[in-house]
Amino acid sequence: MANYVNTVLGRMPTDAMGPTLIHEHVNFGFAGWYADRTVAPFDKKASFDRAVETLTAVRESGVRTYLDATPNDSGRDVRFLKQVSGASKINIICATGLYNEAQGGSAYFKFRNALPFANAVEEIQELFLKEITEGIENTSIKAGFIKVATGDGTISSYEEMVLKAAARVSKETSVPIITHTHGGKLALAQADLLISQGANPSQIVIGHMGGVSDIDYHIAVLGMGVYIGFDRFGADMPPEKPDSENISCILKLIQRGYVQKLVVSHDYTINLLGRQVPQLLAHLPNWYPTHVFKNILPALKTRGVSHRQIEEMTVDNPRKLFEGE
Ligand SMILES: [Zn+2]
Repeated sequence: MANYVNTVLGRMPTDAMGPTLIHEHVNFGFAGWYADRTVAPFDKKASFDRAVETLTAVRESGVRTYLDATPNDSGRDVRFLKQVSGASKINIICATGLYNEAQGGSAYFKFRNALPFANAVEEIQELFLKEITEGIENTSIKAGFIKVATGDGTISSYEEMVLKAAARVSKETSVPIITHTHGGKLALAQADLLISQGANPSQIVIGHMGGVSDIDYHIAVLGMGVYIGFDRFGADMPPEKPDSENISCILKLIQRGYVQKLVVSHDYTINLLGRQVPQLLAHLPNWYPTHVFKNILPALKTRGVSHRQIEEMTVDNPRKLFEGE
């Protein structure tokens, strides 16, 4: 059992995590955004100021730890995260990982895997392991968890390589895995593949499960011993469901005794890399990373969820995920 976690500022006891947002982003770009930098360059100063302002508001809402679930190929910048964490006084835990085939930078390891005598799974394992145990990109900043993702359809052979590597490294290091599903699809397949490769179910969060409102489906996934994330609050756009449906699912799952396996978040992106989409944000007034603590948790309380149960979802479950309990 690990009783510490790697944040971007160094090792921290899991007891110090406190109220935690389990799946968010500081910077995020769809792979290929860098090809558009002539039109939409990264403004480091403006992005830094926005990140510090946002995370200061998040801290003031009661949150102490912010998990940045940005995979390596989606614009993860750990030096930037370290500066932001220092300035905003919030714990940031960064990931090692790779995004799904359709939206990530999948070309590189697919090329590697097509070479004679290739073993891309081993190469990806080497990458994840080094980023967790030694550091990322010649820094001493270590990843605290592994991020994996699948798309809409089946788990592709590329995604399968990434999930296998993640499971093996999680088993070796006792570092958790947090997944992206496309609106909850393939959740059982993800859990099954990760567990079959040796990952501890108590160290897996199957993400974006709010995309499905069928609690029998949630219960089937929970039956595998994993956590599930209602982690896109405020992001009311397909394939997600409105907050009201997520709240109703959480209430039903708590009634059925699953509070110890639920985690909540927004999947918010503070700085979208590349061209901006202000029209989208104008339609999502609640998609801001203080929404859960300011609005959703109080709404759950008025529907009968106890203070202790709120603490389980926001404090105990994230801590236990890292401890592998
Ligand atoms: Zn995300």
